[in-house]
Amino acid sequence: MIPIQNEMTCDVLCVGGGIAALQASIAAAEEGSDVLLVDKAHPRRSGSGATGCDHFGCYLPEVHGDDINVIVREILGSQTGTCHDPRLTRRFLKESTAMVHRWESWGIPMRPKGFYEFKGHAFPTRPRAFLHYDGRQQKPILYKKAGECGVRFLPYSPVVDFVFNEHGQPVGALALRIDQEDPGFTLIRSRTIVLATGVATRLYSSETSPGMLFNLAYCGSCTGTGISLVWRNGGHTLNMEIPYIHAGPKHFARCGKASFIGVARYPDGSPVGPFVTEPDKDYGDVTLDVSHRILTERLCDGRGPIYVDCHGAPEAWLDEMREALRWEGVAAMLDHMDEEGIDFSRHAIEFMQYEPHVQGRGVEIDENGETSIPNVYAAGDIVGNFRVGVSGAAVYGWICGKSAARKSKDAPSSSSLDQNSLDAACDRCSRIYDRRGSGGATWREANIAVQTLMSSYAPVPPHKARSANLLCAGLKYMKDLRAKLDRELSADNPHELMRALEVYELLDCGEAIMHAALERKESRGNHVRSDYTLTNPLLSNKFLIMTNRKGIVAGTWREKWN
Ligand SMILES: Cc1cc2nc3c(=O)[nH]c(=O)nc-3n(C[C@H](O)[C@H](O)[C@H](O)COP(=O)(O)OP(=O)(O)OC[C@H]3O[C@@H](n4cnc5c(N)ncnc54)[C@H](O)[C@@H]3O)c2cc1C
Repeated sequence: MIPIQNEMTCDVLCVGGGIAALQASIAAAEEGSDVLLVDKAHPRRSGSGATGCDHFGCYLPEVHGDDINVIVREILGSQTGTCHDPRLTRRFLKESTAMVHRWESWGIPMRPKGFYEFKGHAFPTRPRAFLHYDGRQQKPILYKKAGECGVRFLPYSPVVDFVFNEHGQPVGALALRIDQEDPGFTLIRSRTIVLATGVATRLYSSETSPGMLFNLAYCGSCTGTGISLVWRNGGHTLNMEIPYIHAGPKHFARCGKASFIGVARYPDGSPVGPFVTEPDKDYGDVTLDVSHRILTERLCDGRGPIYVDCHGAPEAWLDEMREALRWEGVAAMLDHMDEEGIDFSRHAIEFMQYEPHVQGRGVEIDENGETSIPNVYAAGDIVGNFRVGVSGAAVYGWICGKSAARKSKDAPSSSSLDQNSLDAACDRCSRIYDRRGSGGATWREANIAVQTLMSSYAPVPPHKARSANLLCAGLKYMKDLRAKLDRELSADNPHELMRALEVYELLDCGEAIMHAALERKESRGNHVRSDYTLTNPLLSNKFLIMTNRKGIVAGTWREKWN
């Protein structure tokens, strides 16, 4: 059995070391809480915001005027606006103003040119909701700030389970130490928990470079821990069945679409969308925000490929764009372009749709960031009813941190733990490690098996549809795969053990998707069913809440919180 090597206690436990978790930790520490942040990697440079971001969705009255609703409308209509409870969007925007000023005071350049510049992800003639900033150092700055506030850090320690009290209430977490030769556990007791473990990637086969599991636009080490924990423990999840599929440069999977100022064009030079005909440094071409799917459709019907073409832009604009891509954290792509002699002024860049991943779908939170499991909060990309990328993670991380700190003042500390569930969690991990050297199934084989099942039985459009037949078959195969992995999955070292446990999180996310897709008997967005082709207008203002209570899966509908 892998030993529990040390025990820690805190008021607020932040699970994750990305934007949302760091923000939550700072906010809670400022409230006077004893805060512990546990990251799978190192919070100085981990997660999707590790190397930078450059668009911060927000409402700044000094730029936008007094009517916040103007920006609410733009955010809800943006590519991140699909799965929102508008009440949360409004709370986010109200608090985003102070966050811009706060980040600026901490040293993050929110107006690198000396003024607030809103550009990208925008329709010509409409208000612009995304502040253009230099996010390259955002993580080191937030990490430093958290340290100054007294936050304690536990890096290289993926959280693998909750720990429970005798009433079945989560009162902490079990983290696996992966920075030593043999694995060990840290047992953490806390009054409240903030889950902020980011996207779930590696669920579907990579479109960019099949076989290369980590050539991904988002953080490849994030596999939906928070969603898996909530799903496994009877909490509410939502919108898992409506896949998000990002798009960007072909072969070199990178975010940063909105930093490109070029026009999306067909090979004959004609524009794909109606918005711009020449490069535009303020708006870019929003066509590929409006439809990511068109990139695949045009490849399949032979009218593509589609290129983003910056030809004709003044050199000064191109320099600005290159700089913006560095702020965005995709310097590696620029370096590669330099090495290969690819020049924006001479070469159009082919774009493609990437594989689906789980982002802005998952855990239901209320206005204060609390999940349906009492004393457990969630923020950032794992949230299913609100998402605005980096700024959403920053602001809701902050809200969660404040709320969790206040709640932890009243929450009782855990005197006795449910030893049976703790033993079961330790045993679940230990069994995999006990098979080391046995030649059992590797995490990589297991991960590819999950991807194959997801791509086959919970497919995404264009030209592919889901149905009860496919989804039921998929669920059966997922169950079989889980049983097989329980018997055969092995790991030779702590790193491989972490990867093996990630595969179980992906199985949880995959099953949650299939169950929800089965329950949603209509087609909507990227959820297309061949047996229910209609988009039902009666469901437009509703969310489907899914729960899994000890294996009994149920779906209920609720009105969106307006
Ligand atoms: C290159 C790039 C550019 C981007 N640019 C923009 C932009 O301009 N504007 C925008 O709005 N968005 C942008 N995004 C998206 C943005 O970065 C994310 O939305 C944001 O980082 C989400 O924050 P988060 O805290 O939810 O997740 P992350 O910042 O991804 O953090 C997740 C954290 O969880 C940790 N973790 C995962 N599993 C575990 C576990 N089991 N135990 C402990 N810790 C765990 C990870 O190590 C990581 O620290 C960009 C993304 C990328 C990749």
